Amino acid sequence: MSLSKIRGQARALRLLKPLLVSRRLPPALLFFGLEGVGKATTALEFAKALNCLKPSADGDGCDACASCTQADKGIDPDLKRVNAAYQAGLREEEAERQRTIRVDTARHVIKEMEMTSLTGRWKIAVLEDAERLEIEAANALLKSLEEPPPRTLWILVSSRRDRLLPTILSRCHRVPFSALSDEDVVGVLQTAGVPAAEAPRLAALAEGSPGRALALRSLDVPEPEAWAGDPLAPFRLADSLPRELHLARPLVEAHLRRIARRLRERDGPDSRKTRDGLREISRLSGFLRSNADPRLVLELAALELQDSPRQAQDKA
Ligand SMILES: [Zn+2]
Repeated sequence: MSLSKIRGQARALRLLKPLLVSRRLPPALLFFGLEGVGKATTALEFAKALNCLKPSADGDGCDACASCTQADKGIDPDLKRVNAAYQAGLREEEAERQRTIRVDTARHVIKEMEMTSLTGRWKIAVLEDAERLEIEAANALLKSLEEPPPRTLWILVSSRRDRLLPTILSRCHRVPFSALSDEDVVGVLQTAGVPAAEAPRLAALAEGSPGRALALRSLDVPEPEAWAGDPLAPFRLADSLPRELHLARPLVEAHLRRIARRLRERDGPDSRKTRDGLREISRLSGFLRSNADPRLVLELAALELQDSPRQAQDKA
């Protein structure tokens, strides 16, 4: 991988490549935009290019020299990737338990960044999910972001720029990242090993985020045929949704589409019952778009496929 192989981020690369060529860098960059679109990957490739021994004319890394290889293996002593796993290592805890970036972690990285590289290379810290910085940690960073030692670079990465402190934001040179086209999402998925037959379906759910597509791939959307007769299914389905809204929402959308299809098959495409059911699904879909709780939306939609009390009486 190298910067030139990043898909769908032409605007970000147009801002970044001149910085590499000139080697005149602001002390801190902020890569922001939708989650799962390649911000952290780009940050690592940018860091790699900065220390590459044989960079190309447009500043990109060669992907083959000793420095690039070391970075790819994650063993470059001058490149720190600060994330939940990093903090978990420092604290000797599990990564899942690292919900915020703590002040101790910030201080630890600042100290590392202040030690000059033995080989005169750039020292780079990529701080992922920067919106998780605790206030004290953010405050500890301010001075370092403003006046870092020479040849050091901070790259903050965030999909929630609105949650960053204004004092942090004002010290960073901002680089926006965009949602990808479905075609680019398919390309990234295939590179990641997703079969060609499966990639377009996932891309259609992912709203321009390959990361989201890969996360959704590991989650299941069962066909209504498998659960429609089970009275507890709506609640079980809702319970099985991931806690993260950005993952739950596309899953519920996929459920709504399948439920609508099932209603048409069951009651005929033109029946009054189908029309009523589809109207309800469309109403719920609107609620979902205006940020209603995905669990509740899925429960109500799934109930549309259960027999109503009236129908149950008729049958009895
Ligand atoms: Zn190289």
